[in-house]
Amino acid sequence: MSENNLVLYRKYRPQSFKDFVGQEQVTKVIMNEILTGSISHAYLFSGHRGTGKTTMARIFAKAINCQNRKGAEPCNECPSCREINEGRAIDLIEVDAASNRGIDEVKALREGIRFAPTFLKYKVLILDEAHQLSKDATNALLKIMEEPPSYVVFILATTEANKMIPTISSRCQKFNFHKLNHDFIAQKLNVICKAEKIKIEKDALDLLISSADGSLRDAEAKMNQLINFVSDTALTAGDVREILGLSDINLAVELTDILAQKQKAKAMKFISDNTEKGLDIADFLGMTIDYLRKIMLLKIGTELIDIAMPSETNEVKEKALKQAEVFEEKRLAKTLALLMDAENKTKYSSIPQLPLELAIIESFED
Ligand SMILES: [Zn+2]
Repeated sequence: MSENNLVLYRKYRPQSFKDFVGQEQVTKVIMNEILTGSISHAYLFSGHRGTGKTTMARIFAKAINCQNRKGAEPCNECPSCREINEGRAIDLIEVDAASNRGIDEVKALREGIRFAPTFLKYKVLILDEAHQLSKDATNALLKIMEEPPSYVVFILATTEANKMIPTISSRCQKFNFHKLNHDFIAQKLNVICKAEKIKIEKDALDLLISSADGSLRDAEAKMNQLINFVSDTALTAGDVREILGLSDINLAVELTDILAQKQKAKAMKFISDNTEKGLDIADFLGMTIDYLRKIMLLKIGTELIDIAMPSETNEVKEKALKQAEVFEEKRLAKTLALLMDAENKTKYSSIPQLPLELAIIESFED
């Protein structure tokens, strides 16, 4: 993600526990540890991208080093807090294993533990995307974790906890960060829009949030991309789609109609026409699978509409309910499975639309 797109993310990054909302369970346990003075030497924060792992790590680092803590909260005013907030604390070491592989991270780990902290109470090492640490760094880390100096706290963050080696993860206290829900992200973005004077229609904001897939950082980065296009008239869903290069949900709705009615020739023409117009087949398949899954949920119970489609427009919702009525349950499940298969094959196909065409033909067979 480009640095330019992270301006809003940095500007509105929470600086204390009370502002860090959306992961209540994690916050509650961590605050309690700070209050009771029972912090661990190593933490593993795992979960979806952009859900607050490193933000929480920084607030935690501040709280355990704060000279004037109020309850569990860092004061954000004492020299320790200010050092960390201004990014100049030498005792807070952040390593991004995804972009910083090898020698540097081993060095950072060794330096990190060699001396007691110079200024802060604890040396805090935040290792982002820790599952990507090089072998040497992993070994160095393991060695330190076997006999950690009392002044060191490790916070390992990862989007793929299953790839962490067990000898390391078993030494960590584990916290899981879940995807953030639509309403929560909407709340945050509305605050930003108000402060930054960004005018945007509700539909447009909903579309942006849907495309961020539960990641607040992604949503803020996308909002950042819109800033240059802000004017006196509010941005519409169409504007957002165009600026962010999102596929049009109406295309998924249209293809679903064709599939529900088993119109083979029309389906082939639909694909051919849209491929010619430059439709990104992989992206389109992802969206269509997501949409059909929602139809399946609606088929099971129409009262699931708010769970299945929290952010769709009323027009799309009405259409989806009708399609759920028409589409046979068995065929719906079969079509979904075939499209998922096609999605994988699309990456390797020299004719990008071919796996989709074959999947559709197969879905029409009894
Ligand atoms: Zn402080």
